[in-house]
Amino acid sequence: MSDARSSRIEGLHKMTPTERLQAVAAKAGLGNEAIASLAQAAEGRIELADRLVENAISSIAIPIGVATNMIVDGREVLVPMATEESSVIAAVCNAAKRCRPTGGFFTSSSGPVMAAQIQLLGASDPEQVRLKVYERLDEIRTICNETDPLLVKFGGGFRDIEVRVIETAEGPMTIVHIIVDTRDAMGANAVNSMAEALAPRLVEWTGARSLLRILTNLADRRVVRARAVWPLEEIGGEEVRDDMISAYHFADADPYRAATHNKGIMNGVSAVVLATGNDTRAIEAGAHSFVARNGHYGSMSRWEEDADGNLVGILEMPMAVGLIGGATKIHPTAQACLKLLGVETADQLARIIVSIGLAQNFAAMRALATTGIQKGHMALHAQNVALLVGAVGDEIDQVASELKALGKVRQDVAEEILARLRAGK
Ligand code: NAD
Repeated sequence: MSDARSSRIEGLHKMTPTERLQAVAAKAGLGNEAIASLAQAAEGRIELADRLVENAISSIAIPIGVATNMIVDGREVLVPMATEESSVIAAVCNAAKRCRPTGGFFTSSSGPVMAAQIQLLGASDPEQVRLKVYERLDEIRTICNETDPLLVKFGGGFRDIEVRVIETAEGPMTIVHIIVDTRDAMGANAVNSMAEALAPRLVEWTGARSLLRILTNLADRRVVRARAVWPLEEIGGEEVRDDMISAYHFADADPYRAATHNKGIMNGVSAVVLATGNDTRAIEAGAHSFVARNGHYGSMSRWEEDADGNLVGILEMPMAVGLIGGATKIHPTAQACLKLLGVETADQLARIIVSIGLAQNFAAMRALATTGIQKGHMALHAQNVALLVGAVGDEIDQVASELKALGKVRQDVAEEILARLRAGK
């Protein structure tokens, strides 16, 4: 990189977002069009962006669509989904419609319980360290609860500890888990603060050295389960049902397939997590590590036939989302999405999200086991391709419908169609 393009920009964080954009643009040689795009994208929201992240210069608008037809635990619910991927929302609407005759989605939850880890090293007897920590349970409870009296006031707070000795490449370590009910918060900051407050006392009591103090995203005490039954006639008959079950067996046995099968589930899950201002990375990390917790990476969901020959889908996954904390309370769009959902607790939100994941999985498996994924996907993708080649106004629909009719949703074909339209042929 030449000096002019050096990534060093002195004092960038102290500038206003407008000054920052100018400074970055000058360094990167951005033209007026790009500068205007970035400035326009954040219009009315740049102060919020500036409060949420460092060095903010703009923000990006991801479409929010609404999934219809959802019934979760007997309640009709409209679900906002933030995603840039075509066909994700349509797939959920379709899957949810097909299980309405059997009552939609039924859920259960283990409650909003999170854990933070404290790593203890250097003790001559890690097993003794383990027991010494257990002996201090009452003091640990007091230290943790004093760290977050507000959480305690809302009915949450310290619940328990778990202490393990793990084998590592450099020898055994004692790992302390503090287990905390975080109520309507995702809880990362809450449990991290407790872990940091507790660590020096553990050192004092055990003579070990403490190193890392942070939550685990493998939130296996905050698991939500969703179940739905799709009647045979809504699936397309016994053959489709059996093929969908075979598709599931494939995913559960083969990590190459499981990765894509689970990505489909996360298409639904992450879209609601994002729309509500929750932490998509925390949910993704928890979901994948939960599947692989026993050393094999398989399907997040389970599919089987019931006694009447209908298809039953089950999805069980950690769901650490909140209504308080992070961007959930600060971001007006997230707040509006939460209002649309009509949820009063983080637990209710978590149940809806897992139901959406299951709906998404049904739609993807059914498409794959029948016509293939590209038919529905490409029909929606045609619009994107039309935009990509520069179609504007009415041209977008015209190009997209010709692409679909030809069954060739490709950029080169779109360019030909657009050129023909513009030449008036
Ligand atoms: P937070 O600290 O902003 O809010 C939680 C706090 O709100 C509680 O500790 C409590 O004091 C208070 N509160 C008020 N009313 C409450 C209620 N009804 N229920 C529960 N608490 C209530 O946020 P958080 O949820 O602790 O942390 C979430 C944030 O942490 C997210 O932005 C996430 O991205 C970030 N984070 C994540 C990780 C990770 O996932 N690895 C690590 C660090 C930070």
